[in-house]
Amino acid sequence: MNVYDSARMAEILAPLGYAPGNDPEAADMVILNTCHIREKASEKVYSELGRLRKVKDRRALDGAAPMVIAVAGCVAQAEGEEMLRRAPFVDIVLGPQAYHRLPEMVARAHRAGARGDGNGGVLDTEFPIDSKFDHLPDRPAASGASAFLSIQEGCDKFCTFCVVPYTRGAEFSRPVEQILEEARQLVDGGVRELTLLGQNVNAYHGRDPMGCEAGLGSLVQRLAGIDGLARIRYTTSHPRDVDAELIAAHGTIDALMPFLHLPVQSGSDRILEAMNRGHDVAHYMGIVSDLRSARPDLALSCDFIVGFPGETDADFEATLDLVRAVGYAHAYSFKYSPRPGTPAAGLPRQVSETEKEERLARLQALLEEQQSKFNADTVGRDLDVLFERPGRHAGQLVGRTPYNQAVHVTTDDHQIGDLALVAIASARPHSLDGRVLDLNCARPRKDSEERLSA
Ligand code: SAH
Ligand code: SF4
Repeated sequence: MNVYDSARMAEILAPLGYAPGNDPEAADMVILNTCHIREKASEKVYSELGRLRKVKDRRALDGAAPMVIAVAGCVAQAEGEEMLRRAPFVDIVLGPQAYHRLPEMVARAHRAGARGDGNGGVLDTEFPIDSKFDHLPDRPAASGASAFLSIQEGCDKFCTFCVVPYTRGAEFSRPVEQILEEARQLVDGGVRELTLLGQNVNAYHGRDPMGCEAGLGSLVQRLAGIDGLARIRYTTSHPRDVDAELIAAHGTIDALMPFLHLPVQSGSDRILEAMNRGHDVAHYMGIVSDLRSARPDLALSCDFIVGFPGETDADFEATLDLVRAVGYAHAYSFKYSPRPGTPAAGLPRQVSETEKEERLARLQALLEEQQSKFNADTVGRDLDVLFERPGRHAGQLVGRTPYNQAVHVTTDDHQIGDLALVAIASARPHSLDGRVLDLNCARPRKDSEERLSA
């Protein structure tokens, strides 16, 4: 979502004459878009700011235009005023729900700079009543085949380990028509695949033009009607919000890719309860089974946390059992990171760092093995691949299979944005190599013919 937010910030600043650049030394403005989810991510912000301060000072000495430093995202939201105190050279601190007001903040920062206030840092970490999405410009022509589209933000679930409800705010769903319009703009600009985003994307319940609530399944159905949009994905979903309509959508909408990120965090009911996840292992397994009945070749991805306070060896073994029972194509796994202000941070029986590391290594070894096996099992199959970027070698393109695996091909006849049928020739742990069989962008999708038997 930060990638999406950064793109939108660039778009809203374009009319002021700003364009994205790669070199902080030459930048008139630097925006750090930050993440607060784990300690490691948020620690990086102050060290990065230390480096930027030196660049800013150097520019001032050289007589170059002053550099504006802005900190956006969830660390900015969580730290607010404290950040301006700790790093007074920061000009703007803005939360994730306030970035539509960036042009106004930049103007204020420039005014403060011109007055030589030094302490004129601009702070905007309000959760505004009106949605930022109502104030953002149209999407420009895309630079790629695949794009993100935020449809839902925030969270009301309050898992005991998580900062999201405090930094992103309450659950909010964008109206259906606004999403369809943004999707059409992206597709008109060359996008062929959309990944719908939300902290709890399947809690989506936006209003349609009739004033009725639409769930994610219904939204996907409407998006699938957009001409030229070949692929739809969504992330991150929550097991509590997988409803019958969404399960059915996986069985009937070909553009909805057979790959789903469905985090469970732990395979122990005791830990799930302490995490306040609101479901048990049986519920999760039931959903996985229903989804696989609807779409037999569905590949799953997951998030896990090891070392949640009170997690015993037996709890951890239960997580390994769940992984073995489900079989994942891909996963992210993390050591529990106590976050300030969350209930779990104050729980007794925190797990030692050494234990967390041992558990993480064991879990990751199992997940790696599953991912390698999943990739190896696609060798010999012919899969639709959407080309997304050039490869490292001349004539090489990198694309993605329906299961989100990266595939390298060598071809002179295809370009980014093409969908082609590719014979998968070999597998590496994290990617595949293949040979293009044909190119037919207008070809009706054949996913259903290629589904594996369960
Ligand atoms: N809404 C999603 C997750 C969003 S946060 C869900 O409920 O599944 C993304 C991932 O970061 C989480 O799935 C979790 O695995 C990890 N995470 C969040 N807080 C964490 C913490 N305090 N320590 C370690 N990992 C954490
Ligand atoms: Fe965080 Fe996801 Fe739980 Fe919400 S549902 S509190 S975003 S982990």
